[in-house]
Amino acid sequence: MQALQLFGDRDLRLTDVEPPPAPGPGEVQIRVRAVGLNFIDVWGFRGMAFAKRKLPLAVGAEAAGEIAAVGEGVEGLSVGDAVVPYGALTCGKCRACREGRDNLCEDVSGVMGFHLDGFARERVNLPARLVVRVPGGVDHVQAACAGIAFGTVQHMLFDNARLEPGESILVQAGGSGIGTAAIKMAKAIGCTVYTTVGDDAKGEKAKALGADHVINYREERFEGEVRRLTKRKGVDVVFEHVGPETWNGSLLCLKPGGRLVTCGSTSGVSVQMNLMQLFQQQYRITGSFGCRIANMSQSLDKMAAGLTPVVDTVLPLADFAQGLERLESRKVFGKIIVTL
Ligand SMILES: [Zn+2]
Repeated sequence: MQALQLFGDRDLRLTDVEPPPAPGPGEVQIRVRAVGLNFIDVWGFRGMAFAKRKLPLAVGAEAAGEIAAVGEGVEGLSVGDAVVPYGALTCGKCRACREGRDNLCEDVSGVMGFHLDGFARERVNLPARLVVRVPGGVDHVQAACAGIAFGTVQHMLFDNARLEPGESILVQAGGSGIGTAAIKMAKAIGCTVYTTVGDDAKGEKAKALGADHVINYREERFEGEVRRLTKRKGVDVVFEHVGPETWNGSLLCLKPGGRLVTCGSTSGVSVQMNLMQLFQQQYRITGSFGCRIANMSQSLDKMAAGLTPVVDTVLPLADFAQGLERLESRKVFGKIIVTL
């Protein structure tokens, strides 16, 4: 069968590999149909020296497909069911796993497509406990946005930032895969959404998604604009994933007692921040990484109800690297998906 493997820094090759054996007890075999691209793939693709892993490695951290075979003792999943796999191989036994806090697993084997073979291959065996069913009306391309993009945003906004209807939120980089999802999810519960974009064309698209105020961060200081638009009050929540380029500005946009949640740092990894501001303003800063398995189901239910992902491009598997370059260049609006 075909797999897309990473051999070294920016060296991706479509290769023939042995298909997996029949699924063992408690396992299912998934025929992968679509893979979502994410910044974790860009880091992986750049070879990130500190990651402990063996090359070659099948890439792809977020996917959708259908059940091709079912192992002994698996209940509730049948051949042909559309499914989404969880993106990390958790233990299923530790306290965090038992309590459904899967992304805090104490004995995780790694992230698929980054530490372990990922989903950019025709067939994958996985424990059935890591697989959720896709409701009717959601196609493979849309479902391939549930495992990371939608799941991460669901976890950030509702588990971590505890966003409430009617609150105000600043979504950084509103044209990104997670930015577009955050705008739509916040608008769906009646929040006022401020968002930043890098060009006016993206600004128009963000407005069409429902963003109330769009700020071109290349033309004006977004923190000044947010403070002006909120009559110097600031917003309840900031959705961060850019990092050093926006971090201190993001904090300046918060109300006293405001919440900042972050899941990424595409512009670098270190910031300097003012601790007086942190404690005097009583900010709450939360890190968020991936999602819980339940967040994937919540995301898929939202999609089935009409809150669909914004898809920038759909490419064949062979063009995965081209998709990553497009993601890196920040020319995207929404998600890039490859299909198998
Ligand atoms: Zn665990």
